[in-house]
Amino acid sequence: MQVITTVAGVREAVRAWRKEGLTVGLVPTMGYLHEGHASLVKAAKADCDRVVVSVFVNPTQFGPNEDLQSYPRDLAHDEALLESLGADVLFYPAVDEMYAPNAATWVTVEGLTAGLCGKTRPTHFRGVCTVVSKLMNIVMPDKAFFGQKDAQQLAVIRRMVRDLNMNVEVVGCPIVREADGLAKSSRNTYLSPTEREAALVLSRAVFKGEELVRAGAATPLAVVEAMKKIIEAEPAARIDYVEAVDAESIEPVNTFEHDVLFAMAVYIGKTRLIDNFIAKAR
Ligand code: AMP
Repeated sequence: MQVITTVAGVREAVRAWRKEGLTVGLVPTMGYLHEGHASLVKAAKADCDRVVVSVFVNPTQFGPNEDLQSYPRDLAHDEALLESLGADVLFYPAVDEMYAPNAATWVTVEGLTAGLCGKTRPTHFRGVCTVVSKLMNIVMPDKAFFGQKDAQQLAVIRRMVRDLNMNVEVVGCPIVREADGLAKSSRNTYLSPTEREAALVLSRAVFKGEELVRAGAATPLAVVEAMKKIIEAEPAARIDYVEAVDAESIEPVNTFEHDVLFAMAVYIGKTRLIDNFIAKAR
């Protein structure tokens, strides 16, 4: 595996692969990699001849009072994991390699970014869409792999790729969980042992929601109410949102006519965690 820190270096590697007629997969990450990220890399390996994994803690997707400075980083661990998974390039650019000091261009997706995480994090998706667009332009992959864990992000990226005619297929991959249900996240490392226990309310609410949907719940709202009840019973948890939205448009819904995304963000102490599931249209 090559570790490349420059845009020119990645372009050169990809150009050589293209000459050989090889296909290229891209897995964008912020590092501190876990099995959730590994599942994306494995999906990319299975689907593409060569795989580029970017590790970049993207400052533009953090709000002013968020965890940019404290975001966990461990390049040696990430490098060893990616090597073992057979990734071909680890792209690890510095901030000034990705952003010129006078960068003035943003990619914004409207509508779908207004609700859910966009409410609490109003500049987040602008940062995500801008950096993902840049990575697409740098790597020009055939396919790019994203986790369903960040369901709104996946919907936003799908829309951006379609709207801007980006020549890439977006592949969504299922949520990977810890044995006890907690969705894997780099931010889980912020949790104290008691908070780690309390954090199980998120997955418990997801599992309860899935069960109610399976049992034929009358409305999405009834499911949301039951999920909220579970979370509210945990004193260490503070709900940011628990909502049912159209999985594609991210508009609030109260029928099962289209696929429904049940999504939540919950603070456990100071740590904001997200989880979700999708109920298929019926
Ligand atoms: P991050 O490093 O948190 O920005 O995540 C990079 C990519 O990994 C995103 O597409 C995430 O949705 C995906 N991802 C993170 N955690 C998980 C998980 N537990 N299961 C599946 N995908 C995940």
